[in-house]
Amino acid sequence: MRRDYSRGWRRARARVLDGARICHLCGGFLDYDAPARSKWAPSVDHVLPLKATRYMADELREAYRLDASNLRPAHYGCNARRQAGKPVRQHVSRAWSKATKKEG
Ligand SMILES: [Zn+2]
Repeated sequence: MRRDYSRGWRRARARVLDGARICHLCGGFLDYDAPARSKWAPSVDHVLPLKATRYMADELREAYRLDASNLRPAHYGCNARRQAGKPVRQHVSRAWSKATKKEG
């Protein structure tokens, strides 16, 4: 793994989770006190799953991996379930849209 990838990912992840409170997959609250990699812990989900980018050129894959427009806050559990290929509702919940609207 290239070093600039992990640095870029950490930055992209921090930006997505900054102020994020709602899982975009189930609409529930993210639990920042939950142990890492537990069901309700915050994680970053790729709207276009990385699996779907596997035949793309490396640069394009990298863009999908780090582009904020392809990233959404999600529970670790919901994210893992989705990556396992189990169906999850694809629409963005009303609570999530409301929570991400800029205040003031
Ligand atoms: Zn969730």
